[in-house]
Amino acid sequence: MRFSWARQNSQRTISVLSYERFGIAEIPFCIARWHDSVEPEYDCGNGPTGKAEALSARLPIQFDLLSNARDSLRRAVELMAWDDLNSDHAKLKHAITNAAHAIELLLKERLRREHPAFIWQNVDKYRSLQAQTVTAEAAVSRLTTICNLTFTDSDKATLLAIRTTRNAIEHYEWHASEAEAKVIVGNALSFALGFAEEHLGIDLSADFKRDDTWRLLIEQAQEFARVHSLRIATKAPNVFLMLCDECGTEMVTDAGGCLLCGHWQDTEI
Ligand SMILES: [Zn+2]
Repeated sequence: MRFSWARQNSQRTISVLSYERFGIAEIPFCIARWHDSVEPEYDCGNGPTGKAEALSARLPIQFDLLSNARDSLRRAVELMAWDDLNSDHAKLKHAITNAAHAIELLLKERLRREHPAFIWQNVDKYRSLQAQTVTAEAAVSRLTTICNLTFTDSDKATLLAIRTTRNAIEHYEWHASEAEAKVIVGNALSFALGFAEEHLGIDLSADFKRDDTWRLLIEQAQEFARVHSLRIATKAPNVFLMLCDECGTEMVTDAGGCLLCGHWQDTEI
């Protein structure tokens, strides 16, 4: 496997690449071991060395709902932000399936916090890996009726669009214009980030601000930048916002910080 983004931007650190490939971001012990023993031998052109693979093989594979959602969201965001070897259409296809997966898991995580049994379609089958868990549609229904969450019409439309598109991709055929696909992905990413922040108390955008991923996402995925700006702005209805010199959206508060990209600028007139 080749990491084209590593060749394109030196600011993307070797450690980020290692976390993604092996899913060990949550295990500090592994991070230390990677830096200590593997980094000097890493070859960005041809992948990790055998030492890294041996390290990975010794680790248990662990994805709880949230880390599983985070991983899929990261895949979707990176596909939209960074250039890679896939065609634009393949990137969009994979971004949609990953974003849909992330959303489904985030919805389930909120249900789990209410009670883990709510994740199962039939709550009496709680913990049975043979029994079906709720669909995203059923999760939204339960979150509404049991947890008193509200979903805007816009978010309901986003969830319907990402769900039906994912089903088409995974089970049949998918036909769409590139513009339509970009809107679906942009809306889905914004929903995932907004839902995690509002209902799980987690700022998932922080994961992407450790390197250039967030900046590139805003730059490359303009549909996302537009809808996410609107989402953020609705949370601060009485705040006067000015144009950001960096990302070009009207998201700068009078204190000088951009609510979308994080850029700071002088707002003194
Ligand atoms: Zn900005």
